Amino acid sequence: MFNGGGDIVPDQHAILGLASAGETVVLVWDAVLRGTRHATDGHNVVYHEFAHILDMRDGAADGTPILPSRERYRQWVQVCEQAFLQLRNDAEKGRKSLLDHYGAVDEAEFFAVATEIFFDRPLRMQKEMPALYQVLAGYYRQDTAARERRHRKGASRARS
Ligand SMILES: [Zn+2]
Repeated sequence: MFNGGGDIVPDQHAILGLASAGETVVLVWDAVLRGTRHATDGHNVVYHEFAHILDMRDGAADGTPILPSRERYRQWVQVCEQAFLQLRNDAEKGRKSLLDHYGAVDEAEFFAVATEIFFDRPLRMQKEMPALYQVLAGYYRQDTAARERRHRKGASRARS
């Protein structure tokens, strides 16, 4: 959820965090702890709210953060618009999707929800939504799927 500077508009989601255009983030501590205890459930209020802050740095909460080139903007809009419409369609039809249906509310929520999955379930995102994974990896300058793969290998080695 974000507050574009005006009054806070409650929605169906319980408020777990809030990012305002003044670059303030308010988090419900229990929700923060839940996000760290269940690190791969696809929900993380910290990633979600900070994505809103990054999104709003150009003055618009529109799901498109500041990008380094025209080409990157073109690619971002093309990939995210398609994934957003797919999510909206899934939400309307009640179909399960990797991204939480809350991301179908608008483009800003889409970016925040996609960011949660990018960090929380990167292998699934890379497999099921490779184009979206790629633009987020480019934006965040991280290959979270490779990190997860290394982490899993290390964990299985530690067990044996
Ligand atoms: Zn949000």
